[in-house]
Amino acid sequence: MSKPYMHLRRTDPEVYRAVAGELRRQGDQLELIASENFVSRAVLDAAGTVLTNKYAEGLPGRRYYGGCEFVDGVEELARSRARELYGAEHANVQPHSGAQANMATYLAFLRPGDRILGMKLSHGGHLTHGSPVNASGILYSVGSYGVREEDGRVDYDRIRDQAKRERPALIVAGASAYPRILDFGAFGEIARDVGALLMVDMAHIAGLVAAELHPSPVHDSDVVTTTTHKTLRGPRSGMILCREEHAKAIDKAVFPGMQGGPLMHIIAAKAVALKEAFTPEFRAYQRQIVRNAAALGAELMDRGFRLVSGGTDNHLILVDLRDRGDLTGRDAERALEAAGITVNMNTVPGETRSPFVTSGLRIGTPALTTRGMREAEMRLIGSWIADILEEMDSEPLRARVREHVRELCRSFPLYPELREED
Ligand SMILES: *Cc1c(COP(=O)(O)O)cnc(C)c1O
Repeated sequence: MSKPYMHLRRTDPEVYRAVAGELRRQGDQLELIASENFVSRAVLDAAGTVLTNKYAEGLPGRRYYGGCEFVDGVEELARSRARELYGAEHANVQPHSGAQANMATYLAFLRPGDRILGMKLSHGGHLTHGSPVNASGILYSVGSYGVREEDGRVDYDRIRDQAKRERPALIVAGASAYPRILDFGAFGEIARDVGALLMVDMAHIAGLVAAELHPSPVHDSDVVTTTTHKTLRGPRSGMILCREEHAKAIDKAVFPGMQGGPLMHIIAAKAVALKEAFTPEFRAYQRQIVRNAAALGAELMDRGFRLVSGGTDNHLILVDLRDRGDLTGRDAERALEAAGITVNMNTVPGETRSPFVTSGLRIGTPALTTRGMREAEMRLIGSWIADILEEMDSEPLRARVREHVRELCRSFPLYPELREED
């Protein structure tokens, strides 16, 4: 490895070896986890800067610490780029992660015990949308909606009826495992009908929204939360967009409500990622993500696998393994990992197995699309996945696929400059 890790290698060889190992792992396997991506070298540079040293509680121009002239500039860049990219009136770029962005939004508008309505975890929702093991489910009273089991799609009429019965103070729209377009206009109408606020969590689709490949939630909702590290391809972090009328409440909830000092190095990296998101290359990249998911899904369907909802409109597919006898999501995930293909097991709508076993696989294309892979590679990878799932016990098959995977990875190198010396 080259210079960036020189000091780490000398000071802490154990951590250095883990970093070097992870760099090799990312490059030598096929990353198909739908929530992961590979940031640009510029984003990596920004995340590794001396901005990590700076305390900057407060907001640009109104800090509780001196010496903020440069970090103020950086945060202002991130905020204005976020507003412009999404056409939002206000942006707060300080949440440390998607979970923090969601909790800050709840803190801004709800009191403990208030009712929220979000998508069930087992149907594609997120822990922070009211799961009993998460603060959102501990502090608030939770109702949850699912997708229709027949076709895996959100049923807006059913959600409207449920909202009318339950009268939530806040409705959450957005998912971690939903392969179709979400109708934020319909959610907005339901929220208005019942006098609820609408929070859209676009964590997974933020990049697609920026490239106008998924309808934007900004005008249909009160608040939009997101991660910045999934399709948006920024550093691991979060962000909140809202209308001006909610700006004060959101800003106060993030700090001092939820967090202490912002991670200024990560805010710098967010600013860089947001700049990249304005480029034609980024738009082309997002289009290719969607094409790649469609190609991978088509290959698996051609091989007889069932996809939840019968396909995909976005960056991910959900394979439903329930017609595959005793093949579970967990076993499938392990077999694929042994062949160098990284996916994650996932519950499917109507799931009967435990979340540690599951009957599904979630497969996403953002990361491999960043490496430059296109439809032809997706078809190939889809055929390897099908081969392995059809012959779960074949060691030689896994070894053969592992070799193909290595070769393919070599043709699409990842961070080659960082690996020079290994
Ligand atoms: C990933 C995700 C989050 C949480 O993001 P973290 O950065 O892991 O806290 C929140 N909501 C949705 C819908 C997600 O997919």
